[in-house]
Amino acid sequence: MLASSTKYALQLRRGFRWLRFDASLEAEYRAYCNNNEYTRVLWFSAICMLLWGGFALLDFWRIDTAALDAHQQALLPHLRGVRLGVAAAIAAPLLCALWRSPMRVLHTALVLLGVGLSCGAVFAVYVHKLLGVPHEAAILVLVMLGVFTPFATSLWLHVLVALLYLACAAALTWAAPLPVVRAEMLRLDVVLALSALVVGFAAYWHEYQRREQFLYRGDAHWLAMRDVLTGLYNRRMLNHHLEQVMAQARREGQPLALLLVDVDHFKAYNDAHGHLQGDAVLQQVAQVVLACIGRPLDMVARVGGEEFAVLLYGSDAAHARALGQSLVAGVRQRALAHGASPVAEVVTVSVGGAMLQAEDRPQSLYARADRVLYQAKNSGRDRCNWEAALQA
Ligand code: GH3
Ligand code: MG
Ligand code: MG
Repeated sequence: MLASSTKYALQLRRGFRWLRFDASLEAEYRAYCNNNEYTRVLWFSAICMLLWGGFALLDFWRIDTAALDAHQQALLPHLRGVRLGVAAAIAAPLLCALWRSPMRVLHTALVLLGVGLSCGAVFAVYVHKLLGVPHEAAILVLVMLGVFTPFATSLWLHVLVALLYLACAAALTWAAPLPVVRAEMLRLDVVLALSALVVGFAAYWHEYQRREQFLYRGDAHWLAMRDVLTGLYNRRMLNHHLEQVMAQARREGQPLALLLVDVDHFKAYNDAHGHLQGDAVLQQVAQVVLACIGRPLDMVARVGGEEFAVLLYGSDAAHARALGQSLVAGVRQRALAHGASPVAEVVTVSVGGAMLQAEDRPQSLYARADRVLYQAKNSGRDRCNWEAALQA
């Protein structure tokens, strides 16, 4: 069991016997399962079409229409109709996958395929029995396997399709005119019900493990990217993101600002109020820093003990400076009493900012912002400083 307190670990501890997570995590899981869904549906429908086509083709050899009586002849148009209907039900998800239709449509088409193929197959086998044609009942078990093929739909939907399938087989058994056929259909029902039980259980277990893997993976991924105390990204993610946005800013001719934020006299705070209270302050400051970004490529990270970094993509110097000032004011406004600060009676921060320049590497941009932060510290703290060229 996981010891962390990420949403993944909490869900794992709460359990998910009914194969359902809390709403937001469930949506994330579905999105994770939807990955490659088009390709999988394409292959699945193509294989179904091939099997169904082959099954139909065999009838040319197996059904001798000349030898059939009038009752049997009357069944042939129904068989043909069902064959066409099922082919259409298989074609629907195939086309949806090819056209990349929305997931909801794709999954509805898949359910239609499940119902169409399973009920169609059982009807075809039933007609074969009435025609006295040798048949392969094995195809029905194969179809049951197909019904439980794990897609990003819920397992309960698969169970529903399987129940419909069994109900259809039972109805045909009940409708069979000849006792011999009825007995054979009954045997088929039993085989189908047993295979549904086995395959259904395997499918449940498969989905359970897939969900468990998702939680373990999500937890490890979260912890590798984040700082546990504040939930912000960590230094490693900042470095990674910085390289990417620097390249993008150059390509698109956009400005990029880096702000380093450091809590003033924090060692003294810990000494006066205790380490736990210090942690709570870091969480509060993290909230203020996080609130100052809004664009998709902006990023906030905790880069050291009481140090944070803010990356602003597409912000010019004036906007970034204003943000830096409001950040300093925002921390002050939280009014977190600091009993040992020579600067103020509340917790304050100092900010150093730098804009990306043509010759910059990630390290040089970082080092410049750090130098300015140092100047902000030396000139009294509780302020936001910029490189001389950008200073107001
Ligand atoms: P300055 O104004 O110059 O930044 O002074 P400072 O005391 O904030 O700087 P210094 O680097 O001397 O001390 C940083 C302190 O931050 C020391 C350390 O105890 C504290 N710190 C680092 N990480 C954590 C943490 O996770 N929780 C708590 N409570 N304190 C931390
Ligand atoms: Mg520091
Ligand atoms: Mg400090």
